Amino acid sequence: MTTIKLHNTRTRGKEVLDPLNPDDVRLYLCGPTVYDRAHLGNARPVVVFDVLYRLLRHVYGTNHVTYARNFTDVDDKINATALARKEAGAPGTLEELVQERTEETISWYLADMGELGALEPDHMPRATAYIPQMIAMIEDLIAKGHAYADGAGHVLFSVKSYKDYGALSGRSVDDMIAGARVEVADNKRDPMDFVLWKPSTDELPGWDSPWDRGRPGWHIECSAMSHELFGDSFDIHGGGNDLMFPHHENEIAQSCCAHPEGDFAKIWLHNEMLQVEGKKMSKSLGNFFTVRDLLDQGYPGEVIRLVFLQTHYRKPMDWTDKKAKEAEATLRKWRVLTTGIEPAPTAAAAVIEALSDDLNTAGALAELHKLASTETAADLLTSARLLGLLTDDLGTWAQDEDHDLSHYENKLFEARQLAMETKNFAEVDRLKSTLVDAGVEVRMSKTGVELVPGPSFDASKLDAI
Ligand code: AMP
Ligand code: ZN
Repeated sequence: MTTIKLHNTRTRGKEVLDPLNPDDVRLYLCGPTVYDRAHLGNARPVVVFDVLYRLLRHVYGTNHVTYARNFTDVDDKINATALARKEAGAPGTLEELVQERTEETISWYLADMGELGALEPDHMPRATAYIPQMIAMIEDLIAKGHAYADGAGHVLFSVKSYKDYGALSGRSVDDMIAGARVEVADNKRDPMDFVLWKPSTDELPGWDSPWDRGRPGWHIECSAMSHELFGDSFDIHGGGNDLMFPHHENEIAQSCCAHPEGDFAKIWLHNEMLQVEGKKMSKSLGNFFTVRDLLDQGYPGEVIRLVFLQTHYRKPMDWTDKKAKEAEATLRKWRVLTTGIEPAPTAAAAVIEALSDDLNTAGALAELHKLASTETAADLLTSARLLGLLTDDLGTWAQDEDHDLSHYENKLFEARQLAMETKNFAEVDRLKSTLVDAGVEVRMSKTGVELVPGPSFDASKLDAI
C-alpha cells in the first residue's frame, strides 16, 4: 500500500500517516463562517483538503474515508447582516433573517466550491444542529475542573488547567498573550481564559442552557461536532494556519480535557495563506475578491484550481492574472490531447508518489506535463483526474469554442508538402500567420504539424483560412 507522509504541525515534521482504522480514515476541516460569499483565500483550504481527500480515497478506498467540514452558523457577523437587513425594512424576525442569511450563504458556498471541482464532504455539520452536544461538553468540562461559570450567563475555559496549552503552535502562554489581542475582562480568572458559552439577547438566536438562554463561543463547536462524528481520536485535522492560535489551541484544550483518554487529532495540517501584495487576503483588511467575482469575470473554476495546485499548500501564494493565463493554456492543451481518449486504469505512479509526499501538488503537476503527449494521453487523463482536473464536470468552459484543430493541422501539413516540391512557401506562411494571429501555437517537425490553442485563442479568426 502507498505510504502517505504529511507535515504534522504538532510535531513540526513529516510523519507517515498510520490511520487509527484503515477502514475508516477520518479527516476534519474547519469550514467557513457563513455570513457572506467565500473569498478566494477561503477556497484554498477547500482545494488543498479536497486533494488530500481524493488521495486518501485512492489509497484506502472510496468507502474507507470520512471527511467532515463544518459550517459556523452562529456568529456576530451573521447577526450583523441580519440586523442590517431588518433595519433596511426586510420582513421577518431577526432570527428568521439570520436563518435566511446562513441558508443562502451555504448554498453559495457549495455552488462556488463545486465549480472549483471540490467534492462535497461526507458530513457538513452546522453548529446550530449540535447545541445539546456542546452544552453537554461544557458541563463535563465544568465537572472536571477545566471550566467555570461567572454567574452572569458566561462559561469560560480555564487555560491554566490544561498544562499542554500552546503545544500545537509551540508557543508559551506569555508569548501568546503578547502576540495576540487577548480580551481582558472582569469575569476571567486569567486573561487567556476563553468563552465557551455566552448570553444572547431575546431577538437573536439563543438556546436554553444551565447558564440561561445563550449561545456557544466559536471554538466549542468543532470539539463537540468532531467528537459526535469521529469519537475521542481521529486521524487528521486541517485548517488555515491563521486558525492555529487561538482556535485550534482551544479546540485541543477543550477536547483533550473533556476526553483525556483520547488523542483528539493525531495529525494537524495547516495551509498557508493566499496573499495580496504580501498580506493575507481577508474580509477585515478589505483586500479580497470572491470566488464568484472571478467566475463571473470568466475565469473557469478548473483554471482557478490549477493555479492553486501549482503552489505547495505550506507556502504562501498570490493570485495573478499571468498564472491564470498559463493555467488556461495548459488545460486547453491537455483537454485537446485527451479528447476521445479512454482513461488509463490507474494514475501514474510518479503522480501518486508526489502527492503522497506531503501533498506535493507542484511535483504532481510536473509529472502531468511529462505525460502530456499523444502516446501517454490516457495516463495524463487518469492522473489529472486524481487531482480533480480534466473531469467531465469541469470541462464545459473548454467546449465553448471548437478546439479540434486537426483539420488545420492536415491543411498545413499538406501545404508544406506541396511547398517542398514547388519551393513556394507563400501559402504555408499565410496559414501560419493566420493561426498565430488566432492565438494558436504552431509546432512543425519533420514528421508532422501540431497546433496548440493558447490562452488568447479565438476560433472565429480561423474563418480566414
Ligand atoms: P473563516 O470563514 O474566516 O473562518 O475561514 C474559513 C477558512 O478559510 C479557514 O480554514 C481559514 O483558515 C481559511 N482562510 C481564511 N483566509 C485565508 C487566506 N487568505 N488564505 C488561505 N486560507 C484562508
Ligand atoms: Zn474548527
